Amino acid sequence: MSILVVGSLAYDTIETPWGKMDDALGGSALYFSAAASHFSPVNVVGVVGSDFDSSKISFLKKRKVNFDGLYVESGDTFRWGGRYHDDLNKRDTLFTYLNVFERFQPKIPMHYRKSEYVFLANIDPELQLQVLDQIDHPKLIVLDTMNFWISGKRRILEEVIKRCDILIVNDQEARELTNKPNLIKAARLLTEKGPQTIIVKKGEHGCMMFHNDNYFFAPAYPLEKVIDPTGAGDSFAGGFLGYVAKQNKLDHDTLKKGVVYGSVIASFNVENFSFAQLEKLTVEEINQRIEKFRQLTAF
Ligand code: AMP
Repeated sequence: MSILVVGSLAYDTIETPWGKMDDALGGSALYFSAAASHFSPVNVVGVVGSDFDSSKISFLKKRKVNFDGLYVESGDTFRWGGRYHDDLNKRDTLFTYLNVFERFQPKIPMHYRKSEYVFLANIDPELQLQVLDQIDHPKLIVLDTMNFWISGKRRILEEVIKRCDILIVNDQEARELTNKPNLIKAARLLTEKGPQTIIVKKGEHGCMMFHNDNYFFAPAYPLEKVIDPTGAGDSFAGGFLGYVAKQNKLDHDTLKKGVVYGSVIASFNVENFSFAQLEKLTVEEINQRIEKFRQLTAF
């Protein structure tokens, strides 16, 4: 089943203890698509500026990622800068330049409107709402966001949260949204805001899913070297929803497996800067790591 995604396409400036990269291809919609397209076709909605080099996304076009909903406007592409600490779970945003996203009003192509699965990737919640208003009744709406929008556009973000089925956030965002330090309590409170399923990511400490009063915990795949965590959240979401949309089932077991696929794809993503790892990743490599994950967690 196809997935509609709205999110950012970006040039990132990344600083990690292992080095610095300027003008790295990034953005929530692209990381999501690179992961999800291993399992399901993806329809992207977004905007780039006239400075965007579209040859950089040709590897995605080869993988059933449709860019009919990508608009090119005069101006600069979205830019984001982030610096990671020695503890790679911690990062500071250095800058966020919305650029062409500032005036963007997404128009969903007719052939996208029947997408059964929708991912509202990290982007201005006003744009996420505009997308929801243009689509037919999808089977599942999954939402991601970040501290920038939680503190900047809280009221409108709450409206989007009310309309989604699954909310994916990290531990810090879950606490910020609920003012509760305890993540179990925070997840329960978040279900009272609308979504019946909450996934809380905890970086190298794995993630937790709270679904209809059932919990599921998955560790992060153990890696000796993490080079660049940028896009870990979006590639997690892509692996998760790509797998779920392929199964076209929403039961607890399918969602659990989706969480494991998400964790595995995110583990590849963080092994190198930008898309260096996801660009060449194969389904065989994903499946091998899924098998290792199974051995690692079975007792
Ligand atoms: P993640 O590491 O999964 O949180 O995602 C990082 C990606 O999100 C980067 O490639 C950024 O370009 C993009 N990003 C960062 N801040 C924002 C924002 N405020 N809105 C949309 N996308 C963003």
